[in-house]
Amino acid sequence: MSVLLNDIRMNKKSTGFVPTMGALHQGHISLTECSKLQNDITIVSIFVNPTQFNNQEDLQNYPRSLTADIEMLQRSNCDIVFTPEIDEMYPENDRRIFDFKGLDKVMEGKYRKGHFNGVAQIVSVLFEIIQPTNAYFGKKDFQQVAIIKFLNKNYLNDLNINIISCDIIRESDGLAMSSRNQLLTVEYRIAAKLISETLFKFQKNYNNFTVSRLKKNIEDEINANPLLEVEYIDIVDNDTLQSVDYIETGRTTACIAVFAGKIRLIDNISF
Ligand code: AMP
Repeated sequence: MSVLLNDIRMNKKSTGFVPTMGALHQGHISLTECSKLQNDITIVSIFVNPTQFNNQEDLQNYPRSLTADIEMLQRSNCDIVFTPEIDEMYPENDRRIFDFKGLDKVMEGKYRKGHFNGVAQIVSVLFEIIQPTNAYFGKKDFQQVAIIKFLNKNYLNDLNINIISCDIIRESDGLAMSSRNQLLTVEYRIAAKLISETLFKFQKNYNNFTVSRLKKNIEDEINANPLLEVEYIDIVDNDTLQSVDYIETGRTTACIAVFAGKIRLIDNISF
C-alpha cells in the first residue's frame, strides 16, 4: 500500500480516503462519490476494527460481506480497496490512550466506553499508511467527526490531511442508512423509522419547547413503540458537544441512540 501510494504521490496526484468497516451501503458510496469529485485517486479501507467495540457480541455479529463490498466499489469506480488483516494493523497490542479533552466523555463515549479511543487507534494507523490529501467521514457519526478532527489537529497535524464531513444518507422512509440495519428483523425495521420521523417532527417545531421538554418529548414518542428503547437523547453544541439549554440555529444538533431489540441505532439532526 505504501509503495503504491508513494508512486501516486510522486506523480503529484491527490488522494481521497474513505475508512469503513464494510457491509457497504449508499451512505458509504456517497463518501466515495464525494472523494471522486475532489481527488485523482480514491482509496477505501474495509476493516472491522476490534478495538472500537465495547461489546464482544456486537463485534461477532457485525455484518461482513467483502465480496459484495468489492463489487459495489468496482461499480462506483473506486480506485483502490485496502482490506488489511488484524495482525497487520495491530502487530502488537495498541496501548495508546488519546486525550480528547472531554469530547469523548459524552453521548457515544459515555455509553460505549473506550469506543473513541479504539476509533482513534485505527484511524491514526490508517492515516499513517495512506497519508491522503483528504479523508471523508459521514455526519451520521456526528461525534466521531468531532473526535477525528481533534485527533487530526492535535495528534496527526504533520500528515496535513483535510477532514471532510458528508451529509447523512437515509432510506426512503427516513431511517439513517447503517450496516447494522440489515440485522433488524422486518418488525424492528418497520418500527425503526419512528426514530427519524420523530427527530424531523421536532426539528420543525423546536421553537415551541424548552430544550429539556424537547428531549423528553422525543424520548417519550420513540419509547411509545414497545419495540424501541431510547438509550440517550442529547441536544449539544456542534463544537464542544456539551449539552445546551438553548438551541441556536446552525450551532446545535440533537443526537440519539436507540435500541431496536438488541440492535443499537444512532441518528442526529441539526437545528
Ligand atoms: P462504518 O463502516 O459504519 O464505520 O462507516 C464508515 C463511514 O461511513 C463513516 O464515516 C460513517 O459516518 C459513514 N456513514 C455510515 N453510514 C452513513 C450514512 N447513512 N450517511 C453518511 N455517511 C455514513
